[in-house]
Order: sequence, then structure tokens, then C-alpha cells
Amino acid sequence: MAQKFRSLLDLCRRRGFLYQSAEIYGGLRGAYDYGPLGVELKKNILNSWWRHHVYYRDDVVALDTSILTPHSVLKASGHVDEFTDLLVDCTLTKERFRPDKAPALSTDKNGHIPITAPDKDTALAWAKSIKEQLAPNVKITVEGKRIVLYTTNICQPDKKGENGKIIFEMMDQHQKPLELLYHGYVEPNTNSPFLTDSRPFNLMFKTFLDPIDPIDRVIQTTIDHPNDSKSDIRERVDDALKPSTVYLRPETAQGVFVNFEQVVRTMKTKPPFGIAQVGKSFRNEIRLEHGIFRTPEFEQLELEYFVAPWEAKHYFKYWRKERYNWWLKHACHPENFRQRDHASDEMAHYATCCTDVEYLYPWGWGEVEGVAHRGDYDLTQHIKNTGANFEIAEETQPVSLDPVQESGEGDADLVPTQLPARYVPHVVESSCGLNRAMLAYLCDAFHQVEDGKGKPPRNVLKLDPRLAPIKCAIMPLTGKPEFNPLTQKVAKSLRRKGLFTVVESQKLKIGKRYYRHDEIGTPWCITVDYQSLEDETVTIRDRDTGNQERVHWKKVHQVVGDRLMEGEADDLLE
Ligand code: ATP
Repeated sequence: MAQKFRSLLDLCRRRGFLYQSAEIYGGLRGAYDYGPLGVELKKNILNSWWRHHVYYRDDVVALDTSILTPHSVLKASGHVDEFTDLLVDCTLTKERFRPDKAPALSTDKNGHIPITAPDKDTALAWAKSIKEQLAPNVKITVEGKRIVLYTTNICQPDKKGENGKIIFEMMDQHQKPLELLYHGYVEPNTNSPFLTDSRPFNLMFKTFLDPIDPIDRVIQTTIDHPNDSKSDIRERVDDALKPSTVYLRPETAQGVFVNFEQVVRTMKTKPPFGIAQVGKSFRNEIRLEHGIFRTPEFEQLELEYFVAPWEAKHYFKYWRKERYNWWLKHACHPENFRQRDHASDEMAHYATCCTDVEYLYPWGWGEVEGVAHRGDYDLTQHIKNTGANFEIAEETQPVSLDPVQESGEGDADLVPTQLPARYVPHVVESSCGLNRAMLAYLCDAFHQVEDGKGKPPRNVLKLDPRLAPIKCAIMPLTGKPEFNPLTQKVAKSLRRKGLFTVVESQKLKIGKRYYRHDEIGTPWCITVDYQSLEDETVTIRDRDTGNQERVHWKKVHQVVGDRLMEGEADDLLE
């Protein structure tokens, strides 16, 4: 599996899906640039989301709000104080990680703890640090890259949150055994149990909207109060910077909430209705991992759906089902997508219930989208802090909504018998990560086909045609000029329909050209050959079956257009 994933990453680099950002300068950790094909794939995923959530519905409008967000907005939403992850440092390897994503301790067959260093020299240096500082006199052995810590007992933490402990075997058996607290996780890369306590870490990127360099303000505050304690200085510096503090938004949602009243007024709408927003969000992640899976800068496709409080559970179930179906629509292997309901201690500070859509990546299940019932938390917070009028006047008696078949969350809504005059809407949010979606669909579509003759397998990206970067590749049989006029006519007819079409007139044999397009997921290759010059027909080759059919060139755009719309037509008829 690891080899297959490496082949996919190699394909992404080689064929222009994904590049390391600023590679010629050595790259920037966690930053990626999307190449000519990557940008198309990403755009096509976005477009599918947009069609299903904006164009195919009567009840959703869109917004595009600012990335720079004032301190006051994110203070009110709770992000300044609570948008944190827990952070742990490993005192042996100096790695930082999130304990909620870290694995449990693993032991060898004798119950001892193996630690794997990246190389022999590092293993020796780490063994020295264990002996001298972290666990003096504990029995350890070093063999190549592997250090083994001898233990006599390991007590697991209990479910009530009581810590466990590791009891080490000492070199001198008469010596009192050394004990180490065990919180139920270890440093993910090496299995090291030498960890600091966990502490909260705010994930937001802070910056300053001020013509005066904020560093000058920091220096001045420090000079003005030379005798203050570190914590007093910190407070003064925060105060001095607060007026100009802004954040790069950590989610697109807050821009939607603060504009709620404007949208209701200008679009003359009322719940149930949604506001869709697509754009970049930023999080100073403790650990960047798995390429574009977790990056500091990423794109979200978010829908905030506003409903009456007594309709919230209904719509949570509705969107939970709807969003999962959207993911399955584009999948070759639907069994690799699943829904996972959050436990109550896992939920974000604003959510009352939440379900993740997860994909089975090569390293295991990973979240691609969260569907959350945010209650009236956000709108109420902004009302409290600004006095904004986010209330809706109810004019009609509420009715019971049809049950959503898929169960996601407890009881049905309680429809009030007495009509409330006004209410603050509740919000059901779906928040999909575009970059994670791209990675999931690439993994899902990546197939390696053996020819049975001992040659290396060839790659085929069986992307849903709607997502494929290039829809059609037109291939004149040879480079002779006589093929040009018809080639151009077919290309133009497809381009006029908005289909991304390329002309492949390299000298490669036609079979090789087909394979090059299979590798990047092009669903249809259209060949202009000698027969085409006689009767104006061309062949359309299907990527997944290899079947070819001959049609008049004037029909190509219709055949391709119809196939492309097959999945969409089902959606529109549902
Ligand atoms: P995780 O637990 O993986 O950190 P999260 O629960 O914090 O994710 P949400 O706040 O629910 O994520 O964000 C919604 C979606 O945005 C996620 O499902 C994911 O697809 C995407 N996302 C969040 N953080 C990142 C990131 N650092 N890089 C890429 N995509 C991200």
C-alpha cells in the first residue's frame, strides 16, 4: 500500500498535479502549489459542490467574505479563547504532536518498550540522553537504530482519566524502580514515552493591520516597563497590539454569521435557507502531516444552513445524509468512505452534535468533512457582542417535518404548539476540506494495471469524468497537416460546450498517447484517422473500458456531453 501511495505522489509531481511550494528555494514546510492538472481537479470538485449546493437548490445563496477577520469577531465566536488543540512535546526526540491523534504505547514480546531512531548515530545520542537525563540507571539496550527500555510493569490509564504509569527495570535490581506517568499515548514516530504534560495551543494565525511595525510597539512597551514581570509585560504588549490585531480566518463560517442580517434583508429570505461560502482558511497546525491532508493554509467548502430551532434535528439528519451521498457520487470505491458520529467529549466548542465523513487513506481513516449542529451559538454570541438583529419573526404555524430515513442523532424535533413570535435561527453546518477531497479522490481513482508480461504496471486514474482535469484529448493519427482541419473542428466544438479539451499531436504512437491520458484521468480520447478524412467520423475511446466507437465528428460534443451529465441527470431527477 505504501508503495502504491508513493507511486501516486510520484504521478502527481511528474504530471503536474502538485508541487512543493517554492521548491527552487528549498520549499516551505506544509506549503504546496497546485499544478495545471491539480488546479483543474480542485476546481471540478468545487464546481460539483457548488452545483449541488447552490445552483440545484432554491434555498441557498452564496457569499465571499474577507479572510482578514477582526479580533472582536473571533473573540465573540470563542475562537480567541477556545480554538485550541492540546500540544505535547517529546523530551527525547523534540517532536511536537497532538495527543488526541497519537498512538498508544507499543511493546515487544517481552513487554519492553522499543524506540526507533531515524539512524544509528541518533539512537546512540538518544540513549545517552535517556541514561543521563530522562531515565538514569534504567536498563536499556541499543541495537542499530533501536533502543529498548526494559520495564517491569505498565499500568494503562483508566477510563475516568486517571493516568497510568510505566515502571522501569533498573540496572541495579536493588535500586527503587523509576516510574513514568503514562497518559495513554506516545510520540507517534518513535514510540517514545518521554513527554511533557499537554497544554493548549491556539491555532489561529495572528497578524496586525497597522502601518506601524508591531515589533516597535513590543520593544517600546518592554523599554517603558523594565521592572515588570514577564507575565505583566505580556499583558501590556497584548493590550498595545490589540487595536490592530487581526486574524487569518480559521474557518469561513464566521464571515457568514456576521453577514446574516444583510443577506436576509437583501435577498428577502428566511429559514430554512443556507449560505454557501468557499475559500481559504488558515490554521497554525501543531503537526503538518500526509502532504496536503493537513496544511496551514487550505480551502473549505462550507454551507451554513439556518433553520427554526424546532427544525434543527431534522435538518441535521437531512444534511448528514445529503453530504455523505455527495461524497459517494464521485467515488470508485464507496466502501472507503464512512460516517462517524462524534462522542460528546470530541466536539468543537460550538457544536451540539457532529458527524464526520471519513475516507480510508493509505495511512488509515481520516476526516474529510464535518457536519455539525451548531445550535444558535454563533448568532447569539454576535447578538450579545454587537446587538445585531438576527431574530426572525415567525408568521406561520410550524408543522412536523417528514422524518429523514437515515438516523444520525437522537430524537425527533419537538414542534412547539405555541407559535414563538421571534426566534434566533439554529445552524446546521457542513464543512468540507477541498484539499483533503482532492487527495481522497486521487487515492480512490488511482489504479495500477498489470499487463501480465512482467512489465511495471501502468497507472490509470479512474476519476469520475465530472472531476477529471481534462475531459477530451483529440489525437490526429500522425503529425501530417491533412489531419489538422478536422482535429481543430472537433476541438472547437467541444470547447464551445465548455469542455476542457487538448490536442495531442506528439509523435508518440496512438496507444502510448492513450496511456498518457489514462494516467491523468482523461475519460475520452478522440482519434482523427484516415477514415475520418473520407467520411468525417472519428473514434471515441473510453478510458475505463478501452472500447472505441465511431461517430460523426459533429456528434462528439453531444455524446461526451450526455455521458458527462449522466450522474448529474440522476441528481436532478431525484
Ligand atoms: P482535524 O480533526 O483533522 O484537525 P477538524 O475537525 O479540526 O479536523 P474542521 O474544523 O471540522 O476540522 O474543518 C472542516 C474541514 O476542513 C475538515 O473536515 C477538513 O477537511 C478541513 N481541514 C481542517 N483543517 C485542515 C488542515 N489543516 N488542512 C487541510 N484541511 C483541513
